[in-house]
Amino acid sequence: MEARLKSGARQKTGSDHIAPDCRGMNFYRADPAFRDLLEVYMEPALRAHLEPHLDRLGELAGGRLDELADTADKHPPVLHPRDRFGRDEDWIEYHPAYREMERIAFSELGLHAMSHRADVLGWPAPMPPIAKYGFQYLFVQAEFGLMCPVSVSDTSNFIILRYGSEELKRKLIPRLLSQDPAEMWKGTQFMTEKSGGSDVGALECEARQENGEWWLYGEKWFCSHTDADLALILARPQGAEAGTRGLGLFAMPRRLDDGSRNRYRIVRLKDKLGTRSMASGEIRLEGAFAWQVGELRAGLKQMLDQVNLSRLSHGVRAAAMMRRCLNEALCVARSRVAFGRALIEMPLVRRQLLKLMVPTEQALTMYAWTADVMSRANRGDEGAAHLLRILTPLFKFRACRDNLRVATGAMEVRGGNGYIEDWVNPRLVRDAQIGVLWEGTSNINALDAIGRAAAKMGAHKALGAALHARLAEASRVPEKFRSRLAELVDRAVAFGARASGSEAERLSRMAAGALYNVASAVVMAWEAARLDSGRRLLLSRMVVEHRLIVQDPLVPANEAWEERAAALLLGEGDDTIHQAAALVDH
Ligand SMILES: Cc1cc2nc3c(=O)[nH]c(=O)nc-3n(C[C@H](O)[C@H](O)[C@H](O)COP(=O)(O)OP(=O)(O)OC[C@H]3O[C@@H](n4cnc5c(N)ncnc54)[C@H](O)[C@@H]3O)c2cc1C
Repeated sequence: MEARLKSGARQKTGSDHIAPDCRGMNFYRADPAFRDLLEVYMEPALRAHLEPHLDRLGELAGGRLDELADTADKHPPVLHPRDRFGRDEDWIEYHPAYREMERIAFSELGLHAMSHRADVLGWPAPMPPIAKYGFQYLFVQAEFGLMCPVSVSDTSNFIILRYGSEELKRKLIPRLLSQDPAEMWKGTQFMTEKSGGSDVGALECEARQENGEWWLYGEKWFCSHTDADLALILARPQGAEAGTRGLGLFAMPRRLDDGSRNRYRIVRLKDKLGTRSMASGEIRLEGAFAWQVGELRAGLKQMLDQVNLSRLSHGVRAAAMMRRCLNEALCVARSRVAFGRALIEMPLVRRQLLKLMVPTEQALTMYAWTADVMSRANRGDEGAAHLLRILTPLFKFRACRDNLRVATGAMEVRGGNGYIEDWVNPRLVRDAQIGVLWEGTSNINALDAIGRAAAKMGAHKALGAALHARLAEASRVPEKFRSRLAELVDRAVAFGARASGSEAERLSRMAAGALYNVASAVVMAWEAARLDSGRRLLLSRMVVEHRLIVQDPLVPANEAWEERAAALLLGEGDDTIHQAAALVDH
């Protein structure tokens, strides 16, 4: 399959001038960088156990799943507000293609349960984040929309396990972690109202307690996976104080114990630009029954655990979509001929391809590293928890923004066909846009990283220390380049410190971008040393030159090294540190 990426996906027949797409490829086998990073970050026994499962998902994602995703995108869900007897039994009709994707994700792979219980895919323990997000990464290269229900189910399970009372856990967990469609309850989370998305303190939904039970009133304005079996929902208990401190967290079932519909209605489905396969709607709460989750006054704090997990998943989804874009662009460039030459031979196209490759590989590195840090944090390592607090919003902010540019860039490489819905590119462009909106816009994530994690916890210093530790371990990286990286770490951390002061509202995005870029450059260099990979080392330098150093737009940079680097990065040379060393250390 790698050979296929190098030579174009399909053989041309005499008059076949249209460049192919990646349909029919195995996305796992076609991704040596992903496989290499699993060697670095995943425990060998788990890695060996998962190999056939990842291989199968890679094949599905390049084949059947991709076909289903295309069909589901073209046949979005439909809301039926009443049943045929005129009762307000609202229900959503999905195309069978969506139902089949659900079966693969939930029942076959158990993506919602794999990090919460043993025996998913035959592994005798809950799986670590590197595995769970690795499956998400492959899945999303075919289907993005359904990953929202998968991820919000996974994160709802986390919240119930962490904050639910013993009684609530006994009631819900067997259903939430089931892979049997007849038993299973899928989850979601509803926060946003007309009065506030970013400004959560402005929420108006009310929770009233009667006879020791909670009943919810009001409206939620954006509800993805609208008809989930269980929604985690923020509401203000009657009489509670204004602002975020007055918010409680509740778990609201779609159906009551007697099988009747809970008292909330799906009023409308949104007509969305992207994620069209999945239903996002508006709901009206008419005294809906709900269970209290955790401490009443800690609702938002608890919900933010879920938000942070979703944010990490969003970074991974952006990494996945960028990989698909890059693979599509490479297929086209290797097979489309213009002016008597394959596109890939043209210097401007090679430069375009590298501009797609660098952010794609940065996001891959940041997924693997952040997942690794999360594993350590889950084992009680406080330093890792500190680091995770800043890495998560940095990753969500920057990777989702990069995805916008990469999706548009890959469309352009395909030329006019890239704009036509026969091909995957328009869907990738449409789906990419949501990454900068849900689970916090770019501003909100940058402010979270700098204005909160750095300002209140000094997390930028933890990040700086972790990066210096990586550099100290990377002795195979040429000395001069390592010193250059070390200096950039210090400068980015100093900038983070300055931005976290009174200028946070103005400088957070710049500082967050700088910290993301410097982190990915350093960790890529560390990975290069571990893997003896010249490509990862060159990618690290690409990040330095193009994302951390200001270039004069009126003076072309010395590009001799870049032409040689491009040859290696596009697979035209041996991938060893020895090959690349001279190109980073000049
Ligand atoms: C398709 C879709 C599905 C969704 N699904 C869900 C869901 O399932 N559950 C859910 O709870 N929500 C969901 N959302 C809502 C989403 O999370 C919000 O739209 C998002 O958080 C932004 O909130 P808002 O729309 O109210 O915009 P606003 O908060 O009004 O923001 C408008 C603009 O102002 C900027 N802004 C706001 N405050 C600041 C600040 N302090 N500093 C700088 N800039 C600021 C923002 O960055 C943004 O650019 C969904 C949204 C969409 C589009």
